[in-house]
Amino acid sequence: MPDRFQERIDAELASRSAAALYRRRRVVEARAGVRLTVDGRELLSFCSNDYLGLADDPRLAEAMAESARRDGAGSGAAHLISGHQRVHHELEERLAAFTGRPRALLFSTGYMANLGIASALVGRGDRVLADRLNHASLLDAGLLSGARFARYAHADPEALRGRLARGEGPALVLTDGVFSMDGDLAPLPALADVTRAAGGWLSVDDAHGFGVLGNGGRGSLEHFGLDLDRVPVLMGTLGKALGCFGAFVAGSEALIEYLIQRARSYVYTTALPAPVAAAASRALEIVVAEPERRVRVLDLARRFRAGAAQLGYALMPSETPIQPVLIGEAAEAVALSKALEAAGLWVPAIRPPTVPTGSARLRVTLSAAHDAADLDRLLNVLAEHRPRDKA
Ligand code: PMP
Repeated sequence: MPDRFQERIDAELASRSAAALYRRRRVVEARAGVRLTVDGRELLSFCSNDYLGLADDPRLAEAMAESARRDGAGSGAAHLISGHQRVHHELEERLAAFTGRPRALLFSTGYMANLGIASALVGRGDRVLADRLNHASLLDAGLLSGARFARYAHADPEALRGRLARGEGPALVLTDGVFSMDGDLAPLPALADVTRAAGGWLSVDDAHGFGVLGNGGRGSLEHFGLDLDRVPVLMGTLGKALGCFGAFVAGSEALIEYLIQRARSYVYTTALPAPVAAAASRALEIVVAEPERRVRVLDLARRFRAGAAQLGYALMPSETPIQPVLIGEAAEAVALSKALEAAGLWVPAIRPPTVPTGSARLRVTLSAAHDAADLDRLLNVLAEHRPRDKA
């Protein structure tokens, strides 16, 4: 008998390799801010989501260590059994206060929060409408929910309106606040109005806006001045700007109670470790107390744009720390990423299926841990490989 699974595995690995789509993990041996040691060499990283430079802040490590000593390393059970500790509860209260929403609910990851939202709110007979460029976790959430699933053109409220008008049944609209691979903002006010006019609910995944955008760092909804009425479901993550791990959903009292009863990815999993929640609480305090971190990273992003555009690179309409440099072919993006690495810079090539075919790119992400000299170094190396040199 042929071994079907082995054949499948071999064929998939060989075809990915041939198409320059094979992915490999790198082992980070040591880290100090944006300087990472990989294969015995120090690389200046432009690839984390640690936008505020908090991930290795000693204050977070201290909060974590203190909680580990006091509360233990593991929570020991799901939230609904005995895993919901005081530290989790306090973090939820702080997240609710920070987002200006009645309640917040912690999830172990953003991926699980999205699955939980969709699986709890919709099912057979309902609809999920999603932006074409949403993060994979929103796509999976829609598909797994059992509801009818359709995608609308990227960041296009009119396309959404058309979709909403064409079907029947309650509609849950899912969108990234800041698109993870493009860095652009969803047109949330228009999406919110179109969704509400059709009697649906908008759920915003603000993984990349939370902590960074808005005057107070409250994210995309603060940036646009949107309240609970217009965006009933807000999801944010703690593993990016907050430098920790985990996620939350913020909304009405009733929504949170409903998720506690029904979100399977909440109910049937171990509560995240208390030290992680303690570190996230500390990070939230720092977000409030140190607005200069947001100012700095957004300023670096603006300066990167100006510099890269001047060199002739194709940028995307992003005003966030995510600054993709559009290349096109996967092999070319990989070659440029390798050239940057040879010069000591770590900027990953993002390829299909993460982004549409023909839109492979370098995904530059900036952090408040970068300084002006780091940015100059990146621009200088990009200058050596600029597109017009190839013409
Ligand atoms: N949503 C978006 C937009 C993301 O970029 C990510 C992480 N890459 C997630 C959700 C998942 O969050 P987490 O890593 O906490 O699972």
